[in-house]
Amino acid sequence: LTEELAALRDEPALTSDGVRVAMHVNIGLLSDMAPSLTVGAEGIGLYRTEVPFQIRKQFPGEEEQAHIYREALETFAGKPVVLRTLDVGGDKPLSYFPIREDNPFLGWRGIRLVLDHPEIFLTQIRAMLKASAGLNNLHILLPMISAVDELDQSLAYIAQAFDEVSEEVGEIQRPKIGVMIEVPSAVYQADALASRCDFLSIGTNDLTQYLLAIDRNNERVASRYDALHPAVLAAIRDVCAAGARQDCEVAVCGELSGDPLGAVLLLGMGIHSLSMSAGSLPRIKWVIRSFSHADAQALLAEAMRCERPAEIRTLLNQALDDRG
Ligand code: PEP
Ligand code: MG
Repeated sequence: LTEELAALRDEPALTSDGVRVAMHVNIGLLSDMAPSLTVGAEGIGLYRTEVPFQIRKQFPGEEEQAHIYREALETFAGKPVVLRTLDVGGDKPLSYFPIREDNPFLGWRGIRLVLDHPEIFLTQIRAMLKASAGLNNLHILLPMISAVDELDQSLAYIAQAFDEVSEEVGEIQRPKIGVMIEVPSAVYQADALASRCDFLSIGTNDLTQYLLAIDRNNERVASRYDALHPAVLAAIRDVCAAGARQDCEVAVCGELSGDPLGAVLLLGMGIHSLSMSAGSLPRIKWVIRSFSHADAQALLAEAMRCERPAEIRTLLNQALDDRG
């Protein structure tokens, strides 16, 4: 089987009825890029930029950041590279920026923190824009957006940084801007968010956590944490519908993308791109090539009638078994 998967390296993730899904990778360190190339990734769907921040002893400066981002943008030149802005807080601590709160997952996280510290946000955006000079593949992704105002403020800072950097280095391409949908309020405002940006990227890890009110890292409740919960699937389906209404592409970058059962349902929902760890990519590509889009849609319709994750698992496992 491994050889069969390896042979698909340069083949597209194309269904038997001609629907294509872009296969992207999630990375955190530049060392993750080699395996991504090995499996034939078509882009970086999520660069968790907090990881290079976490392994340092202090905030990296603009030049240091630009150097890191340049490496990623150049390695994947001609392909999309999604750099997510700093997403610290919650499960992602920074040793040199300690945050003490009773409820860190409901506290100062992601975009909230950087909007309260515009100097951190502007430095990072400027570094990304500088790194993108001469390349045309920068996508900027905003984590933990829970209200339209947060997006509007972020866009204003990005516009400011764009003007500054253009002035300094000459003409640069406007980056594509995306919003992570990983908080329940964002699901219900997906139309408003989609109308203001270029793409949505659904973070199923946090979305599952916040919809089910189950800590994604707590062993005691781990058996209850399930992205195939019908409520989570309904949320993802609604976000896809909002994206289609607003003519805004929708990607998924949470772990559900790398789960063969999840990938079939996401295919049925009309997701444009899936981003996952490099290790999961060959198998998911194989799964997509084993289905027709019409079959995935029919399975999705059946899954959406189920009331329990276990029933959805049984249904999808059967469909995957049928295809070997
Ligand atoms: C997510 O929440 O699904 C996601 C992709 O981001 P992270 O796992 O980094 O929180
Ligand atoms: Mg997240």
